[in-house]
Order: sequence, then structure tokens, then C-alpha cells
Amino acid sequence: MDRLSIPRCPCCGYRTGCATCPVCYWTHDGAAGRHSGTAVDGLNGERTLDEARLNYSIYGASARRYRDVVRPPRPDEHP
Ligand SMILES: [Zn+2]
Repeated sequence: MDRLSIPRCPCCGYRTGCATCPVCYWTHDGAAGRHSGTAVDGLNGERTLDEARLNYSIYGASARRYRDVVRPPRPDEHP
């Protein structure tokens, strides 16, 4: 499978292609464009995508409590 066809995580931007991203632990439904940045869809609690991105930049995870469960992106997951 062409790795460029693997969807990028809307939070961290790596091509993890998982429902719950192992790099930042953001959970997304695969529907591109659904997350406007301020919408709360319930899959990620009360966090919006903007908040999750901010958390990722600070903690390396979409929420502080996920710092210990995320892993670094693999080389083939870079955008
Ligand atoms: Zn991610």
C-alpha cells in the first residue's frame, strides 16, 4: 500500500491511519474535514482539535494524561 494514501492524523500530522493515533492519542472518525478545530464530537471528550494540537505541541500527546501511552512516530509515518 502506498504510504501516501494513509490518512494523516488531524492532530499531530503523522500518517498513522489509526482510529486512535498512537503518536498523539487523538481519536478521529476518518471523515476528513469534520473537525473544524473548535467542534467537540465526543470521541475526544471535551477537547477540540485546536486544544489537542496545542497539547501535542506541549506534551507530545493530545492530552496531558496520554503522555505515557503515546510513542514517537516511525520514519514511514512522516507526512
Ligand atoms: Zn496523531
